[in-house]
Amino acid sequence: MSLIEQDKQYIAGTYARFPVELVSGKGSVYTDVNGKDYIDMGAGIGVNIFGAQDDGWKNAVISQLNNIQHTSNLYYTGPCVKLAKALCEKTGMSKVFFVNSGAEANECAIKVARKYAAEHRGSDCYTIVTIKNSFHGRTLTTLAATGQEHYHELYQPLTPGFVSVNADCPEEIIELSKTTKIAGILFECIQGEGGVLPLSKEYIRFLRKFTEENDIILMCDEVQTGNGRTGKMYSYMNFDIKPDVISTAKGLGGGLPIAATILSEKVENIFGPGDNGTTFGANPVSCAGACYIVGKLTDEFLSDVARKGAMLKEKFLACPDIEAVTGYGLMIGLKTKKSAGEVVKKCIEDGVLCLTAKDRVRLLPPLNTPDELLLKAADIIINACKN
Ligand SMILES: *Cc1c(COP(=O)(O)O)cnc(C)c1O
Repeated sequence: MSLIEQDKQYIAGTYARFPVELVSGKGSVYTDVNGKDYIDMGAGIGVNIFGAQDDGWKNAVISQLNNIQHTSNLYYTGPCVKLAKALCEKTGMSKVFFVNSGAEANECAIKVARKYAAEHRGSDCYTIVTIKNSFHGRTLTTLAATGQEHYHELYQPLTPGFVSVNADCPEEIIELSKTTKIAGILFECIQGEGGVLPLSKEYIRFLRKFTEENDIILMCDEVQTGNGRTGKMYSYMNFDIKPDVISTAKGLGGGLPIAATILSEKVENIFGPGDNGTTFGANPVSCAGACYIVGKLTDEFLSDVARKGAMLKEKFLACPDIEAVTGYGLMIGLKTKKSAGEVVKKCIEDGVLCLTAKDRVRLLPPLNTPDELLLKAADIIINACKN
């Protein structure tokens, strides 16, 4: 049986995979089982932000593997402390809780908002507001938070206490607050799975002001947009606000599973012993890799991400087969005349891996991809957009 046939027999059928079997990679180039090369414009889904087998990242991971691969959270270990300190220094936040996936980081953020609200505003204050067309994960609670009905259908009843509102409509939240006690607002500055759609600056600033005035916890889901992707350490930094809670994952570990819920001073002491926990969270190998990644995200590096993004955007904007170009930094959405699925299929034939998000082509290349490779991939994508 071929690998593809065995995959279909033994792996649960949730993924519509492309007929490509990747076996190795170096930097932003992957090789398949037939020896064909691909330029990687997806980085997994925004995960391998320093590409495949980055030397510095590999050294950090291997040297931690040579010490210890896991301890329980009952003992102290160095890598998680070093990483938490680096994240707090880069954000001005106060404390970190480590988990393993974006969904778990959002679960933790929601727990923070619920506990804060119960303690400060009463047990009838628990509603979490999210934005329509958002994506926050696949657990039953983060599905409830995800503002897309079609994800909900099969799994009723979901966790109660979630309401989604239309993006960029402040009045809806103001109206809702007249009848419902709002504990927290969870949002993505740029909706990733929703099609690389940024919320407006005015709306994001409204969210900050409204939550501040009403003692509501503002939670920014930086799972996809975080860790340098948009040309800033976290995407909210493009909008001159600071949330109360940040959740992040995907690119943080450079390829190993790790996620973080980062807490501002307002909520830093919300958890006491036993209030939350995880077996695998703060894994020292993942943390050692993430420390290396976060250390590399200097202001200079981030402004180069912004420059690369602007360079690509300019190229795509000049293409008559592309109707719109959205996003920040190296998180780019393309509305193409041809269907996004067809463009991605043609790109694979021509040696470029890219993603879709709703009706858009979505690009999340490794942040250190050299200009030449980005431009070469852009040419192949532009060609694939032609009818
Ligand atoms: C991917 C994603 C998640 C879920 O992350 P997992 O690691 O798959 O659980 C949550 N929020 C956003 C914005 C994402 O892009």
